[in-house]
Amino acid sequence: MRLRNVTGSREYIAESKYVIHCPEEHKGKWDEVFGNTNPLRVEIGMGKGKFIMQLAKENPEINYVGIEKYSTVLLRAIQKMEEEELPNLVFIRMDAEDLSQVFAEDEIDRIYLNFSDPWPKDRHAKRRLESREFLARYNQCLKKDGIIEFKTDNRDLFDFAVEEVPEAGWEIIKLSYDLHHDEEMMQGNIMTEYEEKFSSMGNPICKYIIKR
Ligand code: SAM
Repeated sequence: MRLRNVTGSREYIAESKYVIHCPEEHKGKWDEVFGNTNPLRVEIGMGKGKFIMQLAKENPEINYVGIEKYSTVLLRAIQKMEEEELPNLVFIRMDAEDLSQVFAEDEIDRIYLNFSDPWPKDRHAKRRLESREFLARYNQCLKKDGIIEFKTDNRDLFDFAVEEVPEAGWEIIKLSYDLHHDEEMMQGNIMTEYEEKFSSMGNPICKYIIKR
């Protein structure tokens, strides 16, 4: 079924087999959702899902969860999955603030943050997905040797994110202020929807990889 507009997106999502509807019930048991013990990687703020769907296609031995806050956006990812099912990918509609209600300690192997909302006002800094508050949330569910990968073209957001890393007790492993001209970091790069749009406008893409 194809929706011409986003009216009824919540109802559509409620019936989708690609969406995990009570994700907190699977906390500590995500292996059961996928029927295997493969590593679990999560994209937060996946948007329409282009990046995570390509990752899941290229890496069938890894399990993926795409998290998106808004139904109208998630709907687009579901529609793509209907065209091409991927057994190692599921979606959750949730706010990443509640991550630790859904994933247990050491359950996630890697977290991807791509072109996160910048929340430019200082008083909204805590809402940025790269803030120390969110890094503390990731700390609760990421494996001890797990990593976070973050890409954006927003230099102010990236500078903020880089400053938050040591404040939250994390460490930068790799960093580029111009990913698309960094041969090493570009290996295996999958472009997100926003990355395609902003790099085609000539914006340099920043990326970091961090660990604890
Ligand atoms: N990652 C995609 C890309 O690079 O093309 C989409 C980027 S878009 C600017 C940011 C997405 O993150 C939006 O779809 C937004 O709804 C979602 N988002 C923002 N804050 C979120 C949160 N706290 N929890 C879950 N999703 C969130």
